[in-house]
Amino acid sequence: QEVPVLMITGMENNRTLIDAFHTGANDFVNKPMLEEVLMARIRSLLLIKQQYDALLRQAKAMEKVANTDTLTGVRNRHYMAEQGEALLKDPHSRPLWVMIIDIDHFRQINDRQGHLVGDHILAALGELLKRRFADGMAIRFGGEEFALLLPRTLREEALQRAEALRCEAEALQPENVPVTLSIGVAGSEDHPQADLNTLLQLADKALYASKEAGRNRVSYTATDTRPLALSDILQSA
Ligand code: GH3
Ligand code: MG
Ligand code: MG
Repeated sequence: QEVPVLMITGMENNRTLIDAFHTGANDFVNKPMLEEVLMARIRSLLLIKQQYDALLRQAKAMEKVANTDTLTGVRNRHYMAEQGEALLKDPHSRPLWVMIIDIDHFRQINDRQGHLVGDHILAALGELLKRRFADGMAIRFGGEEFALLLPRTLREEALQRAEALRCEAEALQPENVPVTLSIGVAGSEDHPQADLNTLLQLADKALYASKEAGRNRVSYTATDTRPLALSDILQSA
């Protein structure tokens, strides 16, 4: 369907024509050719091609709409549910790291600045995530919470990038509002048997630890026990 093929033949027997259609021809004209017939056939094939392309564009646009969060431009949960587990299972993606990112005191930001400013801040963070993690999958996880799947990444790099994100968000001040992030991190490197849901739960546990410890920080669930603050890990490294 992508390339219309018009066959020109001097052979009139049906077998040749059928074979030509089987090998991918969309139409044929017989020799000697009548220019008007040839032009009419070409026109009709081009029309079908144009309609096919338009349909393809439409299907792609609809797929994007269905998979994207409108406010922030990152993927939505539906997309993560469809693609996330396969990404984690793919040996080429491992080790895969999961981050859960939550804006600190966002209710307060909304209350003080208004819901619309809150929306713009969410959009700015979506932009930042897409820019910094084009090699991963950024997802709006819910409200003011994002998830990030980072494939083909080793522990040290994953933790450094989480910390870099925290710093960049702090410096960003979208809408001139100081915004900080609490981040929880977990990776298949430490939990090779874990499915995506388990990794998300582990990252969420680490996020909770970041909140408990005072917010605006990265924590990391290395084992099933207590999550570690990134500062502990960097000091011991
Ligand atoms: P914490 O530091 O513990 O995360 O505190 P928090 O205030 O960020 O957490 P909480 O869950 O209490 O509040 C989340 C707020 O996010 C509440 C809700 O109004 C706001 N929110 C959720 N979705 C949207 C949205 O699409 N736009 C805006 N502007 N606000 C949103
Ligand atoms: Mg919050
Ligand atoms: Mg939250």
